[in-house]
Order: sequence, then structure tokens, then C-alpha cells
Amino acid sequence: MVESEVNLAKTYDAIVIGSGAAGGMAAHVLTSHGLQVLLLEAGKKLPIEKELRSMEWPYDNPYRGQLPPDSHSLSFNEYTIRNPPYGPGFEKAKHLKSYIGSSDYLKNIVVNERENPFTGTNYAWVRARCLGGKTNIWGRLALRLSDYDFKAKDRDGFGENWPISYSDIAPYYDKVDLYLGITGVKENLPYLPDSIFQRPTKLNCAEVTLKDSLAKMGRVVTQYRAGVTTDGLKHNKYRSRCYGRGACERKGGCDIHAAFDSPTGLIYPAMDTGNLALRTNAVVREITIDPQTGKASGVHFIDNQTLKDYAVHAKVVIVAASTLESARLLLLSKSRQHPNGLANSSGHVGHNFCEHIMGPGVAGRAKNLVGKPSTLDDGRPGGFYLTRFRNLAEKHPKFIRGYGFEGGSGSTMFPRGTDAHGFGAAFKEEVRKNQGAFVGMGAFGEVLARYENYVDLDPVVKDKWGIPALRFHYKFGDNEHRMAEDMKETAQEMFEAAGFEIVNVSSRVLTEGWSIHEMGTARMGSDPKTSVLNQFQQSHDVKNLFVVDGSAFVNASCQNPTWTIMSLCWRSCDYLADELKKGNL
Ligand SMILES: Cc1cc2nc3c(=O)[nH]c(=O)nc-3n(C[C@H](O)[C@H](O)[C@H](O)COP(=O)(O)OP(=O)(O)OC[C@H]3O[C@@H](n4cnc5c(N)ncnc54)[C@H](O)[C@@H]3O)c2cc1C
Ligand code: SF4
Repeated sequence: MVESEVNLAKTYDAIVIGSGAAGGMAAHVLTSHGLQVLLLEAGKKLPIEKELRSMEWPYDNPYRGQLPPDSHSLSFNEYTIRNPPYGPGFEKAKHLKSYIGSSDYLKNIVVNERENPFTGTNYAWVRARCLGGKTNIWGRLALRLSDYDFKAKDRDGFGENWPISYSDIAPYYDKVDLYLGITGVKENLPYLPDSIFQRPTKLNCAEVTLKDSLAKMGRVVTQYRAGVTTDGLKHNKYRSRCYGRGACERKGGCDIHAAFDSPTGLIYPAMDTGNLALRTNAVVREITIDPQTGKASGVHFIDNQTLKDYAVHAKVVIVAASTLESARLLLLSKSRQHPNGLANSSGHVGHNFCEHIMGPGVAGRAKNLVGKPSTLDDGRPGGFYLTRFRNLAEKHPKFIRGYGFEGGSGSTMFPRGTDAHGFGAAFKEEVRKNQGAFVGMGAFGEVLARYENYVDLDPVVKDKWGIPALRFHYKFGDNEHRMAEDMKETAQEMFEAAGFEIVNVSSRVLTEGWSIHEMGTARMGSDPKTSVLNQFQQSHDVKNLFVVDGSAFVNASCQNPTWTIMSLCWRSCDYLADELKKGNL
């Protein structure tokens, strides 16, 4: 892949800011419409296969897969007791990483918190500043939303409905499924629509036991719906089909790109059209405005390495820097016409921020599997997904909206979840005997999108590039805490019903941000007074400005967001290309 020089004299058709799921999709769709696109990415293009080393055994790694001694990854307690940007107590760690950056394989992918500080309320903010962003390491659970989400206000009166219905986005979910590949099994659930699935993975023994038991309660366990191609993609030479090697078990990406990542799935094919110019190490600091027309005219970016400042121009600007960074960029882009930040006449930029609450879950043991021979259970891109069951047909008395569980069972490279203690041969024997019998799951629940949960710019703290840092004003509310209590109770109840011996039940709520599913800082809507974007993620205020990542979400649902981010983005970019051709932008 040859990176192109930015032509500073040229007016591109479109500038896309950010190269993750959203930016990659924008680049793919717009270049396929024949537009000349400049893609700006703040981080480097990493030699990703060398970083991930998916086939490396732990004993071949000098740190057994852990971080080098000069680095530190923040723990749950450290998030809880210290406020960012992390003062005394961390001096020895030259490189300070979020909780997800605890492995040697991710050390160059996840940002150094020292260079990228943020302030305000506690938040576990995971960022990947490199070509492809977080898609290099995402968990790949690829779920659709439904009208239970898009029209949630009609069901319980809270918040706002989306300005779209499932039928508007369904054809784009189909396009994403077919272009990128997804594995799973059809279940015909109205609240979790099926995708166009490739070959599914198999549930193992304990997972089938759980599925059968829950079916009696009217609850559904299905195979992990992963954004992974199991049959291969004839139209994409950069990706292989899944060999089921088991490296998915390790935190990190897939070095044969069976799992979707934005560079191989979207950006390299877009470059092959000849319509895409890519500039990495380009930290966009402001979207510029034409003072005559009030429209976006381009961006200013700082070279990540040299700190030199550049200006580039385009007919349309597309913000895809991820939910929180996109809000930051809009707020940074103040001008005479837009004194509160760009696209912010409603005052809603940064607000209605939402995500998923995590923590409660259960670990158990399928006693009939203790002492059985090991099986290859991590040779698949995921275990199971237990779908939402609250507030569907009936109303829960204590909280609104819902949650689902991600889980798995069986033997893995590192035995997990055993409650064995001790040392020596007897201890090893105990671990061996039990490890394949382990089964566990953890919940992901909808955090309500509330105006009072928001981010703004810190007046003092700046990042390494001199750009004001983001400040959080964000806390889980009563609905989330009541939901978390229910998660714990139902998790235990379901494992007991399946006949598993309970090893551990967790009621601990993890720090805000832990889910890495950020949404809603520039929500879409029909009313420009209460929303930032229209249904095509186009700014109500500036018609040649689009924000195509999770910022546009009106609520968080409890389903993981990435497949929806890409489907919405595809729909918006089709509209954008059409409007541009008609001369409406
Ligand atoms: C460990 C992990 C597990 C996950 N598991 C799942 C899962 O199972 N299912 C799911 O749906 N989602 C999952 N996610 C979330 C998923 O990765 C994100 O939803 C998705 O990547 C969002 O895409 P994005 O394009 O908005 O942001 P990103 O992928 O973060 O990309 C944004 C890009 O913009 C760049 N950028 C930021 N600021 C600027 C700037 N000022 N100038 C230029 N470029 C900029 C960044 O460097 C980055 O490359 C997971 C994430 C992680 C980290
Ligand atoms: S199991 Fe499949 S998707 Fe996961 S790392 Fe291996 S090849 Fe990639």
C-alpha cells in the first residue's frame, strides 16, 4: 500500500477524518461513487501483523505476552481512585495505557494516556490511534438494532425516537454483511434481527446445556455473531477466511484479517479504485469554515511527528474520528458563525452521551465436564450471545430498556475461571481437570442517553499537540444501577437453572467507559433545536458537514454498535454522493 502525498493546492470532493469503522466505510462508499477522497488519520500505519503476532506462543514472548517494564496498564482500582490525567504513583511508567492495553501485542495500538490526557469524571477511555483505529482490536460481536431501539420512546416514553426505522437501515445492514462477512445463526427474533450469515461456529457442550435450559424460560442463547468471514470473501484479496486458530481468545486482532478491520476490509480496496488519498500522522485540530458561505471549507491538521501545521480543502467534510473525538473536534471548531462550536446551534454537541454498563456476571462449572479430555474451544471467533429478555413483552417494575450477555465455555490456551488454589503437581492436576468445564458470561446493558451526561473541552489541559483535552461530566444513573442488580440476579438464576455449579457471581459495576461502546454526542433527529444531525448524519447547521460515527446514535440500545455505525454510514454516504452530484452541497 503506497500512501499518497496530500495535494495542498487541490480541493478534494471529500475529506474524511478518522480511519476506523466509520471513516473506512465512508472512504469505501464515496470512492466507489467516483469521488476524490482524502482520508486523514491521526495515528501511524502500523505493521499490524508484526504487532499482533497472532500465532506467537506465550513462551516465545519475552514478557509472556504482558507489557514491557516501562509500561503500565490501568486497573479497575486505579480508575476508581485516581482522576485522569494520572498524577503521582505512575512516574515509573513511561507509557501509560488504558485497561485494554495490558498486553505486549497492543502496546503500540492503544494510545499513551500521557500524550492523550482527558479530565473530569472517572472514565476508562480506550483509544487506538493508528490506521484502522479500534477495529484492529475490536471484539467483533456484530449485532443489528431493531425498532425496539429506534422507536424505544414509543415503548417507554423516555428520550427520543430515532428519525429512522429498521426498514430504512435494513438494506444497508445487508450490504455490510455481504461486503464484510459475518458469522451467526438465524433466530427470527423481532428485537435482534438476523444478518445474512456465513458458516456459523459451533456451541460447545456447556453452551448447549445453557441454551436448552434457557429455551424453557423463553430466553435465547445463540452463537456469537462475529464480524468475521468464515467462508471467505471472493471480492477482497486482503482478507482470508477464519482458520479457527484460537488466537481470538487473546486480546487483540486477527493477523490474517478473517476478523473485520477497517484497513483490509475497507481502506485498501478503496485505494485500489485510484480515488483515495491517505495521509496518516495527520491530527486534525479544526474544521474550517468559508466566511462567505458559512459552509465547511476543509480542515487544519498537525503532523503527528513534525508538529507542522497544514490546511487542506474539500467540498464536503466528513467527521469519523469516533464518538468522543468527533464531539471534541466539533467543539474545537469555533468561528464567528459558530461561536459554540461547529454544528452546535442546538447546544447538543457533546451531550446525550451514552454507552453500555458492564460488570455483573457469573462464572460456573459444568460438573459433567470435569475431568473430560481437552477440546479446542478457543478455535473460534467467540462463544455465545444471550439475547435481551427484559422489557420486551412485559415491563420490568424497576428499570427500562434491556441487557444481553456475552459468554463462553470450554478449554482455552490459558485455563480460566477455575477456583483451584495451591501449588505443585496436585494444583496443576486440579486446573487441568476443571478448565474445560468452566462457563462464564458478563452483561452489557443500555445506558440511557441523558442530556446531563456530556463532554466538553477542558479550559487548561492540552494534549501533546497543544489541543485542548476532553472533559467528562458523565455518571451512570439510577436506571443503570437498578438494571445492574437485575443482571447479577438473573445471571445466577440462569446458571443455577442450567445445573451449573456457581463459582463466582459478580455484582461489581465497572468504571464508566469499560464497554468501549461510545455513542450519542451529536445525535440525529428531525428537530434542529434538539438534535445535531438529520437522518443522513448531515449537520442541520452546515449542510456540507457529516458526522458518520457513533455520535449520531439517539440511544445506545444494548446491542454492540459497530455494525450499525457502518450501516448508517453507508446509507449517509450514498445520500451524500447523490446530493453532491445534484449540486445541493
Ligand atoms: C477491545 C475492544 C473490543 C470491542 N468489541 C466490540 C464488539 O465486540 N462489537 C462492537 O460492535 N464494537 C466493539 N468495540 C468497539 C468498536 O471498536 C468501535 O465501535 C468502532 O471501532 C468505532 O469506529 P469509529 O470509526 O467510530 O472509531 P475508531 O475505530 O476508534 O476510529 C477512529 C479513528 O479516528 C482517528 N482520529 C481520532 N481523532 C482524530 C483527529 N483529530 N484527526 C484525525 N484522526 C483522528 C483515530 O486515530 C482512529 O483511528 C470494541 C472496541 C475495543 C477497543
Ligand atoms: S479464530 Fe478466526 S477470526 Fe479469530 S484470530 Fe483466528 S482466524 Fe482470526
